[in-house]
Amino acid sequence: MAERINAPRGTYDVLPDQDGPRRVVEETARRILESAGYRRIETPIFEHTELFARGVGASTDIVQKEMYTFEDAGERSLTLRPEGTAAVMRAYHEHGMQKLPQPVKLWYFGPFFRRERPQAGRYRQFWQVGAEAIGSDDPAVDAELILLLHELAGELGVRDVRLRIGSLGTPESRAAYREKLIAHLRANEDKLSEEVRDRIDFNPLRAFDSDHPGTQEVMRSAPLLIDHLGKEDLEHFDEVRARLDAVGIDYEVDPTLVRGLDYYTRTLFELTSDALGAQSGVGGGGRYDGLAEQLGAPPTPGIGWAAGIERLLLAGQTPGTPAPPVDLYVAGTNVQAFALAAEGLRAGLNVQLELAGRSRKGMLKAADRAGARYVALVGDEETILKDMETGEQEEMTPQAVVAHVIKGRHQS
Ligand code: AMP
Repeated sequence: MAERINAPRGTYDVLPDQDGPRRVVEETARRILESAGYRRIETPIFEHTELFARGVGASTDIVQKEMYTFEDAGERSLTLRPEGTAAVMRAYHEHGMQKLPQPVKLWYFGPFFRRERPQAGRYRQFWQVGAEAIGSDDPAVDAELILLLHELAGELGVRDVRLRIGSLGTPESRAAYREKLIAHLRANEDKLSEEVRDRIDFNPLRAFDSDHPGTQEVMRSAPLLIDHLGKEDLEHFDEVRARLDAVGIDYEVDPTLVRGLDYYTRTLFELTSDALGAQSGVGGGGRYDGLAEQLGAPPTPGIGWAAGIERLLLAGQTPGTPAPPVDLYVAGTNVQAFALAAEGLRAGLNVQLELAGRSRKGMLKAADRAGARYVALVGDEETILKDMETGEQEEMTPQAVVAHVIKGRHQS
């Protein structure tokens, strides 16, 4: 016998029982985001590799080692999307959205791909819901997006939520700080992990993210970016915080917050759940005022976040949705039965047709298990409609069955 094929490592099947909670996440996100004027956008699953190389940043883990990149027959380098922001920014410019009233508020929901080491809550194909507001650098936009992520987590019952926010300033304020940080890292080079040491010049900020004890010790005495922000950056950050304070959102200011993507400027935030294990990140995002230029588009401010569907489900208390009630179980395997089921479906009823050739007794049992309101016992000569609630049975023409079920359904 040929060897059985399983799903690739780090991927998973969404089984029918898991569809309900996922749908609740999607519909809750839709309700919250659309009520604030965000509209759905879906970009392709694969893009030119260049979009992510430039848009996510060459120094990031994502671009360096996690992308699923391939050449198609036309020898173009394509990549399965590892994140959503770069493509949304691309689409914004590609479709002239700068001509619309600003900011343009968009949301998305779909699969993303990163070749990470699989573990609980971390997959190679995972799903994200994301929101982006492009075209304004007003701090109210930052606060609104943080509010929306916070509301989504709240509505889904995400437990033990923690919100951390920070500011990365602008590239100018960051450049001066970078030099100081590099000097600090150089002075303590012998205590750093090899990975951090190798990337001192390339991406020194990521040293804050390290879980290596020696590196962590060095970082405890490192200069902090927040102390090097310009006046305008600080004012912007204060304006964001004032709005969060005004609506009672709890947060911690974390001066060591860095995120794994290169494009962030100013506001940065991350929502975690202590109910999750090592992979505690539920969602996060930030402002990316420099991204458009990296993509060869005119300067365009923007901010957004993405949250992991698996993490929302793991940390939340998302109820399942029960299977829809069966209006009519068509107990019969002949052509008349098939025709009756088709007629019921066309009339908008929830119909289940007998597909396993059960005995009459078996069919009634299956109908009962499915919670069917009516069962049509379809013989070659006659059709009997049984009301499963009252036990009443009545012989009728197949034509009369659908009308009867519709009437009965509306009464109950
Ligand atoms: P990021 O795009 O890295 O900022 O991630 C945003 C959110 O997506 C995270 O907080 C996670 O909830 C989720 N996420 C990122 N990578 C993965 C992954 N490999 N598996 C599952 N969820 C992920």
